[in-house]
Amino acid sequence: MNNKNTHCDFCGKEIIEVKKIFSSEKAHICDECITMCSSVLEKEMLQQAKKEFQTGLNVPIKIKEHLDDYVIGQIEAKKVLAVALYNHYKRIDKPIHKNIELEKSNILLIGPTGSGKTLLAKSLAKIMDVPFAIADATALTEAGYVGEDVESILSRLLAAADFDIEKAKRGIVYIDEIDKIANKSESATSGRDVSGEGVQQGLLKILEGADVYVPVKGSRKNSSAETVLFDTTHVLFICGGAFVGLRKDEEKTKNIKMGFLTQEEKEKQAREIEAKELISFGLIPEFIGRIPVIAELNKLSKEDLIQVLTEPKNAITKQYEVLFELDGVNLEFNNEALEEIATIAYEKDVGARGLRGIIEKLMLPIQYEIPSKNDLDRCIITKEYIKKEKDVELIYKKSSATKTITKEMKYSDIEK
Ligand code: ADP
Repeated sequence: MNNKNTHCDFCGKEIIEVKKIFSSEKAHICDECITMCSSVLEKEMLQQAKKEFQTGLNVPIKIKEHLDDYVIGQIEAKKVLAVALYNHYKRIDKPIHKNIELEKSNILLIGPTGSGKTLLAKSLAKIMDVPFAIADATALTEAGYVGEDVESILSRLLAAADFDIEKAKRGIVYIDEIDKIANKSESATSGRDVSGEGVQQGLLKILEGADVYVPVKGSRKNSSAETVLFDTTHVLFICGGAFVGLRKDEEKTKNIKMGFLTQEEKEKQAREIEAKELISFGLIPEFIGRIPVIAELNKLSKEDLIQVLTEPKNAITKQYEVLFELDGVNLEFNNEALEEIATIAYEKDVGARGLRGIIEKLMLPIQYEIPSKNDLDRCIITKEYIKKEKDVELIYKKSSATKTITKEMKYSDIEK
């Protein structure tokens, strides 16, 4: 028990000067000293975690393991990315070693829509704790034309780094739809190619590493806005595209040919073939030369899509479970329901991109009604509900009897 003469053994303050004093038989400590000790400990723990992060995470196996937390499947692409990222940051630390200059290895991701290209790039930036920006190649135009110029990509990266230029210089940029700026001669019109080869040419310098004047607030270059000099040498560029039609003709012959090759030869051959094919697809050789690392992503299978629904750290079903939990309701998707959702997305051929839309549509009527329901314990999403054959299963706390949803709540009714 404290008496009015008790004082803190650390700072000497008396009980009336502080909010609280904690006492054992022999010692006393005030709330202010406890807060100070706790913040010192917290800082030390944070520094320790940062140290472990920097030393432990940088190795490719660890990078791949961290990617596994966010991205389902795509094992080969993850390995290629992990190695490329490892080399990239090694190169930043030691650009020249034993008089040999380590060249930048930007990355090209080839894979169908919704297979995780953007997600992979975004996850890499998250893991490395560096700023990240996404650009759409189709929005870019050659300097002088109406539209975004390539410097706008760097403005975005600068904004993502809270305008800290040093941080931005180590960031990652994802340029989506890179296949759409291929220079297909059959589609070129009137000799003015504002979205094809000209844009590729424009990108060359920033991909390789150059000093570029960048508008600070993402405003147009020729306005009076402030600009900063941005050296892109250490920015990692990841380009992505579906490249529909690529390798189609050669697929069969290549499979036959590759049957006789060792794994190493197969990988070498695959890379050589791709570079050539990319040129015939319409990317200029100089552009391909600046993206030496190529990784392919597969179309996600139904099983992969089920995993996408349930396994990543922020999987969609986990997000809905939390939303329902906040209303005191346990939400469950049974296995058949997950399979049905995956099947619908698979048949739409939009990869994992379609999953959220499908779930949002079928959860809307339930989310509309549930907050006004008392004593609801569980809500079970079934295949029959998704197929509009039955109402959603609701289980109440008191009676623990299964009640079905009222007619007005039917998924099919609301959708109409
Ligand atoms: P892409 O860039 O290949 O068209 P995205 O990476 O933008 O596809 O994917 C769209 C959404 O689908 C992502 O936000 C993510 O939720 C999900 N997704 C796609 N692929 C995967 C994957 N392999 N693992 C987990 N989620 C994925």
